[in-house]
Amino acid sequence: MKSDFWYNQLTMKSRKFIKDKHRSVRGGKAQMLELSCSKCGEKFFHYQKDGAGPLLRLYLDRIHAPAKYVGMEKRAIKDLKVIDCKKCGRLIAMPAMYKLEKRKSLRLFEGALTKKRIRLNK
Ligand SMILES: [Zn+2]
Repeated sequence: MKSDFWYNQLTMKSRKFIKDKHRSVRGGKAQMLELSCSKCGEKFFHYQKDGAGPLLRLYLDRIHAPAKYVGMEKRAIKDLKVIDCKKCGRLIAMPAMYKLEKRKSLRLFEGALTKKRIRLNK
């Protein structure tokens, strides 16, 4: 399951699920997803999805890998750039504040990412 790409990108954060109020209000369940460009397959994120429902946005504090995208929630929204696929040019996501929770997020362009559920223990 683990590819060289992720092996090189693992961070401490990527080894366990985050458990906090955001997870609780979504029912307490979480899964780890590998998100890739739906056009060319380029790998983008390891993402913790809390609760059920469609994936419309990514909360920055739930991105577990790769290292270059971890910790983005500490930056100002205006300093974050639109994310596109460096390989094929597809637009992936746009930084946005999720006002309901005052949480920084990436609003996904429709159908930009394909998701695959992954296990944490290798
Ligand atoms: Zn791509």
